[in-house]
Amino acid sequence: MEYIARINTESAEETIVLGRKIGRILKKGDFIAYTGDLGAGKTTITRGIAEGLGMKDDVTSPTFSIVNEYSGDIKLFHFDMYRIENENELEFTGFFDYSRDDGVFAVEWSENIRGALPPEAIKIDIKYTGENSRSITIRGDSRFENLRD
Ligand code: ADP
Ligand code: MG
Repeated sequence: MEYIARINTESAEETIVLGRKIGRILKKGDFIAYTGDLGAGKTTITRGIAEGLGMKDDVTSPTFSIVNEYSGDIKLFHFDMYRIENENELEFTGFFDYSRDDGVFAVEWSENIRGALPPEAIKIDIKYTGENSRSITIRGDSRFENLRD
């Protein structure tokens, strides 16, 4: 069964707090597929997710590197597919080199690699609703049922 949570945040810090909650319930093998425009807050929420996973390093945007790897209790592979046109261009990105068993994948611009997304991916869509407000929709399993609490 799919659970859908829709949460409005009114600041970047609130989005980071939400990310922290998400990070604390993630486990090895989880795959987050983000959608949302430039500046929506995909990297910002990933910052909170990394904190929730116990990582101490600052998360920076992987726009140029395509992927940044972080280590905490488990690993976080943070991808930005902005420059990737489709899944046929994934070969040199590291996407197939990292093992899902080692940690969590979090992929910005997942719409660009639609054909390579696992069907069980947790989907996080972020919409700009005002200068400091965002509407965040999370589609996942039952773990995401009580995210608001
Ligand atoms: P993306 O990775 O989606 O391109 P970023 O996370 O890099 O977006 O940038 C989001 C920008 O919007 C940041 O400058 C952040 O401070 C700002 N911002 C303002 N309000 C919010 C909010 N409610 N949630 C997330 N980011 C916000
Ligand atoms: Mg980003």
